[in-house]
Amino acid sequence: RIVYVNGDYLPEEEAKISIFDRGFLMADGVYEVTSVLDGKLLEFEGHLNRLKRSLSELDMAQPPQFDDLLEIHRKLVADNDVTEGGVYLQITRGAADRDFAYPKDATPTMVLFTQSKVVEHAPAAQTGIKVISIEDIRWGRRDIKTVQLLYPSMGKMMAKAAGKDDAWMVEDGEVTEGTSNNAYIVKGNTIITRALSNDILHGITRASVLRYAREAQMRVEERSFTIEEAQAADEAFITSASTFVMPVVEIDGEAIGEGAPGAHAKRLREIYIEESRKRAV
Ligand code: PMP
Repeated sequence: RIVYVNGDYLPEEEAKISIFDRGFLMADGVYEVTSVLDGKLLEFEGHLNRLKRSLSELDMAQPPQFDDLLEIHRKLVADNDVTEGGVYLQITRGAADRDFAYPKDATPTMVLFTQSKVVEHAPAAQTGIKVISIEDIRWGRRDIKTVQLLYPSMGKMMAKAAGKDDAWMVEDGEVTEGTSNNAYIVKGNTIITRALSNDILHGITRASVLRYAREAQMRVEERSFTIEEAQAADEAFITSASTFVMPVVEIDGEAIGEGAPGAHAKRLREIYIEESRKRAV
């Protein structure tokens, strides 16, 4: 693979960053994942805007090549022949002698790499996924897309150990989100998902899916729900850049609806793919 590091395109073996990089030492960094379909980028503008917000919330400077991001994404996709998959982008505060205080003059580190994988016809989209619930013990600024992903990793491992696919996190009795996705339930013709706040990541896929749901005459309620309400719902699903809309068919061992992907989730997945394709850059 050809990867990008601070202005250079290099074979991955030659790409290096400092051991003093604050991303490495302190998880002092933010990231984005943009999906690729037909060799084109989905939701590029949404990801770029969220990235700017993450940087500004952390008083982190934009790296020198920030304005070239679309071009950098496109070059990596082309050079690595990615027709389907994603581009991972990370910006850290940069390298500085280890200190908790932010350094005054560090240059941000920016790295990007591609991953080729099946997204549109992922087998899980046909079967749906099974989730467990776990306590949400993450920090209070989940709206900032930082690289502190240890607890989400632990959550995925807990799901795996239980023979399931993923975990939904619960705080004060209510679902916040999935380990790497936003969580939804469906009751009749109503799509229910937690309202935006510092408690969850403001999903780019979430924003589009809710817009498409309204356009398709579905009702949308942005409010919190419990695991019990989810287990009694007609359908459940998750959204993220890398899974689009993915049906959830079981929560903590309880089948949701018929225990198969629901009609609203399937329809929203179709619409999301069709519309994202049209808008891809
Ligand atoms: N919540 C969390 C915790 C996530 O990690 C992600 C994926 N980055 C999402 C939600 C979904 O966000 P998006 O639709 O922008 O990928």
